[in-house]
Amino acid sequence: MVGEEPYLRKDGTLTNIRWWRSQCVRCGVAFDVATPVGVTSLEHSGSFGRIHCDTHKLTLTEVAQRWSESMKKKREAA
Ligand SMILES: [Zn+2]
Repeated sequence: MVGEEPYLRKDGTLTNIRWWRSQCVRCGVAFDVATPVGVTSLEHSGSFGRIHCDTHKLTLTEVAQRWSESMKKKREAA
């Protein structure tokens, strides 16, 4: 964890967010990810967990494509 800072929610209430240092698995560049303060590690943060920098993160379309490709491979292998 690299830090914590106050964050104003859209409904006007104040909370804290935590900043984590992560590293892109494709290019190795370090980037920071913000999570709600209850999250204790990036691995357990679910949808907040990121393994790619902004340049290499997958779009929803790419995720869907990869998913359907892997399903196809599974069917072919069976
Ligand atoms: Zn990258």
